[in-house]
Amino acid sequence: MFRPSWIEIDRAAIAHNVTEIKRRIPQELMAVVKANAYGHGAVEVANIALDNGATMLGVALLEEAIELREAGITAPILVMEAQFPEQAGVAAAHNVILSVFSADWLEEAKRYLNDRPLTVHVKVDTGMGRLGLRTRDELDALLAAADGHFVIDGIYTHFATADEPDSELYFDQQERFAQLMEGLYSRFRYIHTSNSAGAIRMAGEDVPYNLVRVGIAIYGLYPSAEMASSYSFLRPAFTLKSKLMQVKRLEAGQTISYGATYTTAGDEWIGTVPVGYADGWIRKASGFHVDVDGVRCPIVGRVCMDRFMIKLPHEFPVGTIITLIGGPVAIDELAAHLQTINYEVVCQLTSRLPRHYV
Ligand SMILES: *Cc1c(COP(=O)(O)O)cnc(C)c1O
Repeated sequence: MFRPSWIEIDRAAIAHNVTEIKRRIPQELMAVVKANAYGHGAVEVANIALDNGATMLGVALLEEAIELREAGITAPILVMEAQFPEQAGVAAAHNVILSVFSADWLEEAKRYLNDRPLTVHVKVDTGMGRLGLRTRDELDALLAAADGHFVIDGIYTHFATADEPDSELYFDQQERFAQLMEGLYSRFRYIHTSNSAGAIRMAGEDVPYNLVRVGIAIYGLYPSAEMASSYSFLRPAFTLKSKLMQVKRLEAGQTISYGATYTTAGDEWIGTVPVGYADGWIRKASGFHVDVDGVRCPIVGRVCMDRFMIKLPHEFPVGTIITLIGGPVAIDELAAHLQTINYEVVCQLTSRLPRHYV
């Protein structure tokens, strides 16, 4: 790679986070590495997680599961997004677990299984309103349809509001899941409900679940501002850096970037940073700031496709390292500026930015 902009992933931070989660939570740990491990690199993160106590991996797409298999990873992998029945044979051939929620799906999928059983987890919708079956009748029909073609190894649901301490829905969902599961706990090897927020919250509680699905916390980020203010055992692993490309002194009254939305008030030192919206450093980042050698410098004018400008307090040498995310520039602060959540920030930075592992 020639470009002077890169993402640094701190392996030790990921190992620390996985170890800390394992220490607090007695359940088995599924490391969620969908979307290229939230931008951190799926194969790298999967290996670190498995080396530090995770026993399963979770992804969204069948392609993501196959990428891990092709990298030599043999741990169980659950695909959490729904697949069409036509994909059942490919999943079985790669020894990948699919999520299922209707008897009809199983009937249809049988046609695509060449005598190789497919392992599945049943997805239950207890209030997310997304994927999953909702009634005991649907569940009973699904279990009856398995007849030797499928290994029904797990059952799970997903919380909509586990990151909100005062949410009633979180408890309603647990209650609905418990009703559906009555008399069935021994039928499944894995019973799981919790994402990072749920897992962190229920640490130490006596619950009838034996697996947690943890994504964002592995990366050292908290699922919500409320949780970030209540816990402090995680370490962020993600840093985005670049280097000053050009530094120039402009007199008063000069405009910066498209639309000429910024005008220098007096003599100003302006630096150009080679990262832009084509990297996922979106135009909404205009008005935010970056760190230059311990100094917080405002982004002036609009972010362009491949670069943006900052106002420097004084001259800095070309090549000075800029921190866009990480260290003094908290990702949650950037997420707030962009009116989004840390999840979206790490997912939206594209593969145009090389990932370096340190
Ligand atoms: C993405 C995902 C998770 C992980 O959520 P985090 O909040 O990142 O821990 C868990 N379960 C399901 C079903 C998911 O889609």
